[in-house]
Amino acid sequence: MNTEHVKQRLQSELVVVETELKSVGVQNPKNPADWEATERQMDVMSAAADPNEAADKQEEYVENRAIVDQLEIRYNNIKRALKKIENGSYGVCEVSGHPIEEDRLLANPAARTCKQHMNEEKNLPS
Ligand SMILES: [Zn+2]
Repeated sequence: MNTEHVKQRLQSELVVVETELKSVGVQNPKNPADWEATERQMDVMSAAADPNEAADKQEEYVENRAIVDQLEIRYNNIKRALKKIENGSYGVCEVSGHPIEEDRLLANPAARTCKQHMNEEKNLPS
């Protein structure tokens, strides 16, 4: 496995995910792995005058929250994969310790488990 090539792919994906995250959220300055959905600024006067706008705003926040949650997982998985390349543990299943299949890594270079344990990936500690 050519990890230099994987590293480049992960780094460019990280830029894309980070850009998407910044469009819907802000990074927690105390914890770079944590992102918060942003709330559009609305002035208090128009909120009081227009309950529909307040409802729209709440809806938008809920949608952003869902997008941020998904992107945050991808962002952290990519960062983790890059760290593993650095310390030489890349491509090893976090559940069984077996090598992760090459076609799985090609499809998802940030995969944390082999195919057999892919359903357990979401239960792994972040
Ligand atoms: Zn496994």
